[in-house]
Amino acid sequence: MYRKSALELRDLFLEKKISAVEITNYFLKRIAKFDKDLNCFINVLSKRALNRAKELDEKLKNNQPIGKLASVPLVIKDNMNIKDEITTCGSKFLTNYKAVFNSTLVELLEGEGAIILGKTNLDEFAMGTSCENSSFFPTKNPWDLSCVPGGSSGGSAAAVAARLIPISFGSDTGGSIRQPAAFCSIIGYKPTYGRVSRYGLVAFGSSFDQIGPMANSIDDIALIMEVIGRHCNKDSTSLDLPKESYLDNKKVSFENIKVGVPQNFLKDLKPGIRQNFDNSLKILKDLGAKIIDIDLDILKYSIAVYYILATAEASTNLARFDGIRYGKRSKNAKTLKEIYELSRDEGFGAEVKRRIMLGTYVLSAGYHDAYYKKAQKVRTLIIQAFEKAFSVCDFVAMPTTPSSCFKIGAIANPIEMYLQDLFTVSANLAGLPAISLPSGFDSNNMPLAFQLSAPALQDVKIIQHANIFEKAIKSNKIPPLFDKEHL
Ligand code: GLN
Repeated sequence: MYRKSALELRDLFLEKKISAVEITNYFLKRIAKFDKDLNCFINVLSKRALNRAKELDEKLKNNQPIGKLASVPLVIKDNMNIKDEITTCGSKFLTNYKAVFNSTLVELLEGEGAIILGKTNLDEFAMGTSCENSSFFPTKNPWDLSCVPGGSSGGSAAAVAARLIPISFGSDTGGSIRQPAAFCSIIGYKPTYGRVSRYGLVAFGSSFDQIGPMANSIDDIALIMEVIGRHCNKDSTSLDLPKESYLDNKKVSFENIKVGVPQNFLKDLKPGIRQNFDNSLKILKDLGAKIIDIDLDILKYSIAVYYILATAEASTNLARFDGIRYGKRSKNAKTLKEIYELSRDEGFGAEVKRRIMLGTYVLSAGYHDAYYKKAQKVRTLIIQAFEKAFSVCDFVAMPTTPSSCFKIGAIANPIEMYLQDLFTVSANLAGLPAISLPSGFDSNNMPLAFQLSAPALQDVKIIQHANIFEKAIKSNKIPPLFDKEHL
């Protein structure tokens, strides 16, 4: 059953070949058996999931309508709220924080009959690229347990790669869906900014954050987007757009499609990455696409701009964790000032503190113009550069990451870690939809990935075309350690 897509599981359930309780028990057992090696989960919601499965079985028995995700098992990153369950954000600060409302994501998924089996590990407050910044434990890469799965949605990526679940959800502020998807050889999709409601997602960089699906099958990504790509009046940046069909791609092809490649920006690619990237471009060419060179040299500033703006936004978003309203309150505090200072000092990890300090600094009176304002201006130039590029091409192609996954503990220097985001942050800076697709393996047998981005709002077009690429490259290998039944 672990080889099946969510769509296949749904259909088996609707044909009454398998019950929701059987599906749920199957994946709960797989998680119990294999998560000991991987550490994908902060919280497995066995009881809640089984109760829901029973309800769904009952509904089907009574011929009640269930929905597009009838009995589809899935998991979500632990920075999104499920009412009455803990939302830790991978932080000691929120170890006991029980969510008082459902995120819109959860409402939509459960409204269509999905079953949520658990909440997955992440870098603390989604700040990181390796899952090593989780306050609880690092998640491991199913392809090599001594390697990181990427981050910050590392738990979600590793769980799908090891087939502990067919679909998971991540949040992507600067690459946190796409980069771990790349490191684990699964598909990760970051929708257009505003396409998916952020209500109930704990904010990191509000002008960048976007929720999206991670899966082994592109049809599952399309299925999920049909459910979650909806207007939400509880998120002021949510877009109100007509409904579109992501699954219908019969008339779509790469004929007459121009794929732009920023060759100069990519001139220093490592040989293994270059070879794999060129191979992916060749596949697109064989499918009928025209590959053209475009100028996106300005992206050399994207890491600097992102780490100024995202930390500025994070420093204000995280101000709400004051020791009074949510989660941790220091037992050593005697005065109001000490409640703020000690709770934050004891509750936050090193990377979160670093970002709050950096963000506060770039927003401070003396440096606001030199850093924050200047970075905003360069962000506009990046948006304009993409607009110009998209006036001559349909998609922009880049590798997802500058290297394949690295060993746990191998990157100790924060700046070196930030540079891992070189090819992902630009989609967030410009609000564009972008998808990471498995594209093969390097000489050490570690996964590599190909990334396409499109103009804002062209979510359907990018997914339909990604579908063609995905089917041409046929790269749905399973990590050998997990390519077996759990029983
Ligand atoms: N790796 C990036 C960072 O550390 C992106 C994180 C994310 O998208 N949440 O900020």
